[in-house]
Amino acid sequence: MRVTGTAQREAWLARTAPPVELVRPDLWSVPVPIPDSPLRYTLTYLIAAGSGLVVVDPGWNCEPAWQALAQGLKAAGASPADVTGIVVTHIHPDHHGLSARLREASGAWVAMHPAELSTLSSLRPDDAGTRRADLAWLARCGVPDDVAAGLAVNDFALAAVRAMAMPDVLLDDGDLVPLPGRPVRAVWTPGHTPGHLCLYDEAENLLLTGDHVLPRISPNIGLQSAAAEPPLAAYLRSLELIARYDHAEALPAHEYRFAGLAARVRMLLGHHERRCEEVIAILGRLGPATAWQVTEELTWSRGWPAVVGFMRRAALAEAGAHLRHLADLGQVAVTVAEAGGPDMYALVT
Ligand SMILES: [Zn+2]
Repeated sequence: MRVTGTAQREAWLARTAPPVELVRPDLWSVPVPIPDSPLRYTLTYLIAAGSGLVVVDPGWNCEPAWQALAQGLKAAGASPADVTGIVVTHIHPDHHGLSARLREASGAWVAMHPAELSTLSSLRPDDAGTRRADLAWLARCGVPDDVAAGLAVNDFALAAVRAMAMPDVLLDDGDLVPLPGRPVRAVWTPGHTPGHLCLYDEAENLLLTGDHVLPRISPNIGLQSAAAEPPLAAYLRSLELIARYDHAEALPAHEYRFAGLAARVRMLLGHHERRCEEVIAILGRLGPATAWQVTEELTWSRGWPAVVGFMRRAALAEAGAHLRHLADLGQVAVTVAEAGGPDMYALVT
């Protein structure tokens, strides 16, 4: 793996903001800050062709992010009003949060994969019902009631999700982004989310990888309470798929640009293999356990006590994804909960 975004990497190490960069003709990389996040910023991409200007992953919905996006557009000789299209790799708020405001300022269309629309549409109409269903799911994971009260979705989070833009355009695997004069193709890479997209710029041989593949960290692969395809199996398959783009430069949505996708994919596959081995060792030690008990025993890069707030939920979802994967492989048996009790996981001997 070779870092190609050297200015971005230097800024990362110096803990400063990377520059807006013209990566290729008519393609800019714009760092858009994420408040209070160790990820620090989203790398938003601007792609122009003819009279079209597409923004990929506008960023978090807050004023500093909006200003940074406007600065990036200015560097490209444009303003928010000139944007003709918005594509989101997935609907997480650090990518899709600003889409609604940008659409309002420009009249641009918003595009995403159909599975992301399903997630946006799957919310129950009333907040109380959504929270109740979420608490029931956390109980099945074995999360103690007092902890679950702090982890479950709340009105604030639900309001933020409901404020996000619904799509005007759906992009399936292989579809071209509606940007005449510049072939940019959607590559469906489910795993991090069910409808995650990478985008391949055919003329410039660039792959916008979203959160699917990042140079330094491993994206969260988490079980979601809504019944989707098991995420880890999907993610591993999507990694194999993207390794075929080894010839392309990778433009991720965080950190910095790099080349050597096949090598990075091998590292990520190895990471998940070791994670599965760790889960097996934990179940060997504990005997039958809940997803929450496994979560507390797993190693976390910051140490479990430092995993707080929403990160605990992501950690639980990640442990759940690995347990589900091992169950699908026949290595772990699941005993489904009696009413109100947690699901129990045990090694198949
Ligand atoms: Zn992200």
